[in-house]
Amino acid sequence: MTPTTDVALRTSGLTKNFRGFTAVNAVDLEVARGDIHALVGPNGAGKTTLFNLLTGFLSPTSGTITILGEDVTGLQPEQIAHKGVARSFQITSLFENLNPLEHVELALQSRTTQGRKFWRSERLLGRFTARARELLDLVGLADLADKPAGLLAYGQKRALEMALVMALDPQVLLLDEPTAGMGIEDVNRTIELVRRIAEGRTVVFVDHNMTVVGSLADRVTVLQQGRVLAEGTYAEVRADERVVTAYLGEASHA
Ligand code: ADP
Ligand code: MG
Repeated sequence: MTPTTDVALRTSGLTKNFRGFTAVNAVDLEVARGDIHALVGPNGAGKTTLFNLLTGFLSPTSGTITILGEDVTGLQPEQIAHKGVARSFQITSLFENLNPLEHVELALQSRTTQGRKFWRSERLLGRFTARARELLDLVGLADLADKPAGLLAYGQKRALEMALVMALDPQVLLLDEPTAGMGIEDVNRTIELVRRIAEGRTVVFVDHNMTVVGSLADRVTVLQQGRVLAEGTYAEVRADERVVTAYLGEASHA
């Protein structure tokens, strides 16, 4: 085995300019396979832009991205998804009138080659029902499988989104602020959920809640103004003076 197989995701000198403004600046990131890796930093640090680069939604101005040993720089989002990378978004985008079961069935079907041909076939969708129910169970929505998504509570919608990305069975999962806007109960549920779904895969997540970061992350990368300020275990970055000054200090006094 070559050493690269132990690295799920690597960026080298990754840079994104928007009309002269550098949102992501020469970022060298390395995420070990199987790790839960947190990306933290103040608003505007470039975290979401970095996710958009990693998933092909934006193309880099310069630098490279390697996923599971393969150079994916410049590939389209569908091509990167094909390499086993899936992401969740900061903003919810569910169909109000479809229930969680239907959402997950469609997500499962979209992975198959038949997906395009038989998009509306009830009978074929039925093939995915058992797996869809398993995924709803995983995210704690088994009892709400038949409720229109528009009627779900905020935390339940976020859990459904998690089931939708899990339907893609990604090797590398990117979660952008999975606990944003949640109360303490939903936050704790999400911590447990991320732990469960991280088994056998690599997770990179952005979160402002240091309790979430501290309880989940094997390693933490701190971004500030597009650059990597620090990288290490949670304990290491917490103890880093520059990090305390730039970010964690503020958070811990909040
Ligand atoms: P974070 O997710 O860490 O809060 P973002 O990646 O969303 O930060 O944004 C980083 C910086 O890049 C911000 O200053 C933001 O205004 C800027 N930015 C993000 N997307 C664009 C864009 N499409 N065009 C211009 N500026 C952008
Ligand atoms: Mg963001």
